[in-house]
Amino acid sequence: MLTLEQARAQMLEQLTFPTQSETLNLQEAANRICAEDVISPINVPSFDNSAMDGYAVRLADLQQSLTLPVAGKSFAGKPFQEEWSPLSAVRIMTGAMLPEGADAVLMQEDAVVNEDGSVTFTKLPKPNQNIRRIGEDIKEGDIVLQQGAPLNAVSLPLLASLGIAEVKCYRRLKVAVLSTGDELVEVGKPLQAGQIYDTNRFTVKLLLEKLHCEVIDFGVLPDNEAEFEKAFIAAQRQADLVLTSGGVSVGEADFTKAVLEKIGQVNFWKIAIKPGKPFAFGKLDNAWFCGLPGNPVSALVTFYQLVQPLIAKLQGQKYWKNPPHLQTVAAANLKKAPGRLDFQRGFYQVNAQGQIEVQPVGFQGSHLFSAFVKSNCFIVLEQERGNVAAGETVTIEPFNHLLS
Ligand code: AMP
Ligand code: MG
Repeated sequence: MLTLEQARAQMLEQLTFPTQSETLNLQEAANRICAEDVISPINVPSFDNSAMDGYAVRLADLQQSLTLPVAGKSFAGKPFQEEWSPLSAVRIMTGAMLPEGADAVLMQEDAVVNEDGSVTFTKLPKPNQNIRRIGEDIKEGDIVLQQGAPLNAVSLPLLASLGIAEVKCYRRLKVAVLSTGDELVEVGKPLQAGQIYDTNRFTVKLLLEKLHCEVIDFGVLPDNEAEFEKAFIAAQRQADLVLTSGGVSVGEADFTKAVLEKIGQVNFWKIAIKPGKPFAFGKLDNAWFCGLPGNPVSALVTFYQLVQPLIAKLQGQKYWKNPPHLQTVAAANLKKAPGRLDFQRGFYQVNAQGQIEVQPVGFQGSHLFSAFVKSNCFIVLEQERGNVAAGETVTIEPFNHLLS
């Protein structure tokens, strides 16, 4: 059996970053991945301006007198453009253009307005005080966003603030989704004896939409070798990734392996994690292939741990990181058999002592979704670890945006 780390590393090593890109306006580019280094066309700020409401001064004037007449006003968008007479100050607002020759701005709190309209300063400013200089934040020609960065509610406004209207992005990843199994029934239809609802296709479609993939739904396949072959060939023609569930174990009706060995190069892995042991990864003529285990909880856990980083790479995300782990205290006993890395479902919170503690959330069977609903993290129990007693330190992995 492979460890999760080995499986992830083998998989990511084979995958390549995308090459096809398109140029979109910023609105359309939302949730895509940036396909170029974006260079700033301007300086930010683009002119010297004031960081405060107050008075722009020349320090040399203040050496002669702390009381100065006010020569005029500079507002944001309405600069002071008259001749600035010697020995005077200019009233200035935050963001307004600095009058030429000013070398400090005094806050209005440090100035007293006299009856004749002049101002008396109660403090001496330092050179450049309260001045934002041109290019201080970003210089024309700086790289402001790197190739492989996500285009989101933080990075797109940055581009907008620089007057950039379009950006080159990678195209959306197309993912074909299929479930396999004679027992599966479409949600909403009545169940006959021995049948169950097809939850995996529904789960996987939701997850893929959250990851901004384009989903192509190939429905449910009956347990029939010829049907598998036909569907897999059709799916890989249309998609970048074919994602199936079920049929990856070694049961009599598990045809995934036989078919894929015929039409592509696919590795069938037993990964030492629980839930989620069987997992297939490989390449067909025109698409990558991932076969999730049939158990709904195993399917979700392997999607989260393996397919999520795979999709990030195929989308062109260069800075994607596995969700971070935290050390916490187990609030109750946990059952664990040595042998596999366990991803138990838990609920973490800060206790009265200010420590992060984690509670197990009920029965952990790999076919049961009910525990997932109550959880906000995985309790990650090391491969060789046995039962955990309340009070022991355990590692958790808080769910990232995919599951929250
Ligand atoms: P398999 O790997 O096909 O033997 O499936 C393992 C278990 O998961 C069996 O109990 C299946 O009935 C169940 N299963 C497989 N696919 C699905 C699905 N799409 N939705 C819900 N349960 C499934
Ligand atoms: Mg099956």
